[in-house]
Amino acid sequence: MRKGLTRLAASAMSVCLLASAAPAAIFAQALAYPGDAAMKSEGCQYTPARGGSRPWVSISWDKVNQKIWMVDKSTKIRVIKGDWTSYRGMPGTEYARPSSDKTPLNQQPNWDKNAEMMHNVEKVYSFYKNTLGHSNFNFAGGSDQNIYVYSFPNPGDARAHVIDDIGSQQPNKLNWLAFGDAGTYTYSMGSDLGAVGHEFTHLVSYQKLGWLPGMNTETDALMEAYSDILGELCETNPDWKVAGDAFKGNTATNKQYSYRDLANPGATNDPLHGYSPNYDNYYSFKYNKAWLENNHPYTVAPCYSGCTVVGHAAYLMYNSGIPKNDLAKIWYNSMNCYTVSDTKNATFSDCRKAVVQAAKYYYGTWTQEARNKVQKIENAFNEVCIYNWN
Ligand SMILES: [Zn+2]
Repeated sequence: MRKGLTRLAASAMSVCLLASAAPAAIFAQALAYPGDAAMKSEGCQYTPARGGSRPWVSISWDKVNQKIWMVDKSTKIRVIKGDWTSYRGMPGTEYARPSSDKTPLNQQPNWDKNAEMMHNVEKVYSFYKNTLGHSNFNFAGGSDQNIYVYSFPNPGDARAHVIDDIGSQQPNKLNWLAFGDAGTYTYSMGSDLGAVGHEFTHLVSYQKLGWLPGMNTETDALMEAYSDILGELCETNPDWKVAGDAFKGNTATNKQYSYRDLANPGATNDPLHGYSPNYDNYYSFKYNKAWLENNHPYTVAPCYSGCTVVGHAAYLMYNSGIPKNDLAKIWYNSMNCYTVSDTKNATFSDCRKAVVQAAKYYYGTWTQEARNKVQKIENAFNEVCIYNWN
C-alpha cells in the first residue's frame, strides 16, 4: 500500500509545504477531478492531531493538474467533501446524510485532519486484509466499489452509513464512513484508530451478518460489541477504552475518558457510569429499555450498555494471555460461525457458540495446549454470565 513512498518523498513533501503556505483563495478555486486514470499513487506527510512525528499517508498525485487528491487507488478509499444533513433514517436512528458530491478532496486547509483520517482508514483496511484475511472490500456490493470517508461538524460522533447520497437507505450498500470534527472535549474522531476500526467493522458485520441498527436489542448490542472489540484489536497495543485517544482530557498514562471501558465497564467518566459488566446485570437493564430511552441520552441506549458485556468478555480473553492477533482472527472468523437461522436475531449465547467454534477451528482441539486456550475463551464468557443457552 505504501510502495514508492521513499522515492516520492522529496516531491510530496514540497507539495505539502507549498500547500500550507498558499493563500486560502487558491483552495477556493474549483478543480475538476481528472479521473482515476490520471492518478498516480503517492505518499504525503501530515501532522497528527495529538502531535508527534509526521507519518506518511498513501494518496494520489494528479498528473494533469499537478495536485494531490485524497484517493488511495489500491484500496479505493476516498476522502470526500464533508457536507452533511442530519435526518432520521430508521426508527429511532439519526443519520448524517453525506454530500452528494463524491469527488475526492484535493489538498486543502484541513489537510492534517483529513490525511490522518484517511491514514487510519488505510491502516484498518490493511489490518482486515493482511492480518484477518478479509478479501471482499466491495461493501456496496455493486459497481461502486469505493469506500467514502468524510468528516462532519459533530464533535465526538462517528458513523458508518447505509444510505446513498440522496438520503434514502440502500440495501446492501454500506460504504460510507463519517467522523466528527474536533470539539471542546475531543480531537477529530478520525484521528482515533480504534474509532475508525469500530466504524469500519460495521461495514464488515453488515456484509457478513446483515447487522444494522434497529434489530432486536441484544443483536444491536452484539453489533456494537464486534465493532468495539475489533476496533480495539486494530490498535498495536489495545487499551480497551473505546475512542480513548480521542479525548483531550486523557494522558498516555491516565485515560479516564472513553465511550466505553471494556476492561472496567463501570469506570469510564464519559458519558455516564452504568455500563454492564455482565449479562445478569444487563438482563435487568435491558427490560427497562423504555425507561432508559426516556431518561438517558442516546449514548446510554441498551445496545451501548449491553455491548460492554461482550466487549468485557473479549478483554478477559486478552487478559488471560490470548495473543492480540489470535483474538482478532477468532472474533473475525466467528462471524462465519453463527448457526442461528436469522443472524439478525442472534443472542449473546449465539455469539458465545460462534466465538468458541471459531477458536476450536483456529487452535484445533488435538493438543492440551489448544484445549487450554479454548477453555480460556469459554471461561471469559462464563465470567460475564454468557452461557450456552438455546
Ligand atoms: Zn457502532
